[in-house]
Amino acid sequence: MPGSLPPLSQLAVGLAFAVTLAVARVAGATDGVRIIDAHSHYTEADAEALDPAEIIARLDAAGVSRVVISGTPADLALRLHAVAPGRIVPFLGVYDSHLDKARWMHDERVPERAEAQLAEGAWAGIGELHLFAPDAGSPVLARLVRLADAQDLILMLHGDAEIIDRVFAIAPAVRVLWAHLGTDPEPGALAAVIERHAGRALWIDTSVRDPLIAPDGVLLPEWRALLEAHPERFLVAVDAFSTNRWHRYGEVAAAIRRWTADLPEGLRDRLLFGNAQAMLSGARASEPSEDR
Ligand SMILES: [Zn+2]
Repeated sequence: MPGSLPPLSQLAVGLAFAVTLAVARVAGATDGVRIIDAHSHYTEADAEALDPAEIIARLDAAGVSRVVISGTPADLALRLHAVAPGRIVPFLGVYDSHLDKARWMHDERVPERAEAQLAEGAWAGIGELHLFAPDAGSPVLARLVRLADAQDLILMLHGDAEIIDRVFAIAPAVRVLWAHLGTDPEPGALAAVIERHAGRALWIDTSVRDPLIAPDGVLLPEWRALLEAHPERFLVAVDAFSTNRWHRYGEVAAAIRRWTADLPEGLRDRLLFGNAQAMLSGARASEPSEDR
């Protein structure tokens, strides 16, 4: 029924209004400040629920320009990378299923397989690797550390301070991303590790600890002091560790924006973007440091 259609001019006004609304919504959600998400995952379950285009749409809505992705299995990260090579930074996951989290360090086949995979993909790092003090002497860990060191790859570690010490003892120049503020997220303990490894390539992500360091979105003074004392060490991350977390991706990114909002602009930009950019710019296969 053509008679019931609105005149063209009205359509145009409506369309312009909708576009304005959409832009306002994005600006409101992201406050115009860019984020690199230094730690997220893409699993088989995630891939069934969200195809690469839907992942990219989530990054866009959250104002996330680049994201480190570890796949389970590994190649899922390359599937995302193929769709948006400038935005997806693939880290080589060594787990076929979440069960490998607890046993990879005893599996002698892991380093060989990793070496073969590294020869073929555009990997920028290895991990996330879960590992704690009792397994610090694992020869499998040592081989992966040497592999990362030799190939300029970042090692993403989920472990305690003993593991960080061990990794730098094996390879003092290796690049390390320590997940979740470590396993003892306490400012004094972290400051001690940072001071012990002054001059080393150590970055520490705050993922999943946002409510701990910033209850109700307000950064606690002792954490603010730590970030200000070591402005080049810390970086934010969403850690999309489940499909549900991917559904809440924008919400988590918004919470990160909230607790960083009161920091001096330079420090905030380092946490949200600059430190991750610096970490990734030296890594193999990472995109050249285009300014996004
Ligand atoms: Zn993780």
